[in-house]
Amino acid sequence: MSASQTPPATAVTGDDVPTLLVKIFGKDRPGITAGLFDTLAAYAVDVIDIEQIVTRGRITLCALVTAPSGGGVTEGDLRATVHSWADSMHLQTEIISGRGDNRPRGTGRSHVTVLGHPLTAESTAAIAACITDTGGNIDRIFRLAKYPVTAVEFAVSGTDTEKLRTALATESAALGVDVAVVAAGLQRRAQRLVVMDVDSTLIQDEVIELFAAHAGCEAEVAEVTAQAMRGELDFEQSLHARVALLAGLDESVVDKVRAEVRLTPGARTLIKTLKRLGFQVGVVSGGFTQVTDDLRERLGLDFASANTLEIVDGKLTGRVTGEIVDRAGKARLLRRFATEAGVPLSQTVAVGDGANDLDMLNAAGLGVAFNAKPVVREAAHTAVNVPFLDTVLYLLGVTREEVEAANTHE
Ligand SMILES: [Mg+2]
Repeated sequence: MSASQTPPATAVTGDDVPTLLVKIFGKDRPGITAGLFDTLAAYAVDVIDIEQIVTRGRITLCALVTAPSGGGVTEGDLRATVHSWADSMHLQTEIISGRGDNRPRGTGRSHVTVLGHPLTAESTAAIAACITDTGGNIDRIFRLAKYPVTAVEFAVSGTDTEKLRTALATESAALGVDVAVVAAGLQRRAQRLVVMDVDSTLIQDEVIELFAAHAGCEAEVAEVTAQAMRGELDFEQSLHARVALLAGLDESVVDKVRAEVRLTPGARTLIKTLKRLGFQVGVVSGGFTQVTDDLRERLGLDFASANTLEIVDGKLTGRVTGEIVDRAGKARLLRRFATEAGVPLSQTVAVGDGANDLDMLNAAGLGVAFNAKPVVREAAHTAVNVPFLDTVLYLLGVTREEVEAANTHE
């Protein structure tokens, strides 16, 4: 059938049109896809859908085509020819007759990202069962990454994203795997600004504790920090109380602390990949500009904001100057960065671990609790509980292959 004789698309994919699902499975090698379609071409059929995947050297190729009509050839002839070709290639084949295109996907579409370290069959079974229990259908599953965690994505339709998120949050806590649920659609691909907390998120340390170690008041400061992060203390009061303990420290300690800061594994990869994808990246911290300005420079960040330690005559005064960055301040800065970046809040992603990150996580289009305290984990859109910051990329649907390609082609 030449192009000019091809019926309109509506007729090809109409519900009543006889169609054939041709499935090929076997050892992958060059030429299989070309060979199958070359074989089908002799019957002048049209392609409605193709899915192909190679797993550990085995190809699974599914082609949905129109059944042959006219021209003196029958479906039986096509079946015989395809089976004969497949036998010659040592491939298994199955041909199923039916009508029309794929069943339309249900409304209410979500991406469910599962991070396992390792990902067990038991967890996978429980997650799949949980999706089914909410009325959802799993339309596709594919692997996003095998490193540093096994990450797979389920494309789900037919159920409400919030309902799915609630059900899976309970399930994932019981299973000890991370499950992130985000609504499908253009919004997910339109994310443009990522704003991160610093202490225990971008870096492994709590900066004030590094200063406190130099002042010999580490234990007192750590206790106040823990209370504040658990939401038991007002952040601003606790900040002033802790900074007061640093009074008299020599300003040379600032350089020492900068050198002591340890980035979270995956932090560089995350930032580098986000920048290559065209994201703007910022940090907001209840810590200090003396450290965040350095991080901004070292990591090429677009935005950074924090409290500033007052230094007079070469000594820390035990006070902070300027605008206080607390829980409300972090959310305010997210909004400010979004305005400066020219993106709506719905296109922002915020990442943090502490109670003072909650307003920011809730204000962002996607809030990610990163190895967070329970109070934060329960309130955020999604939670990551593996110690690798680059796993945030998988929540955005970026695959490990894409990450590696972006970072090797300098
Ligand atoms: Mg933190």
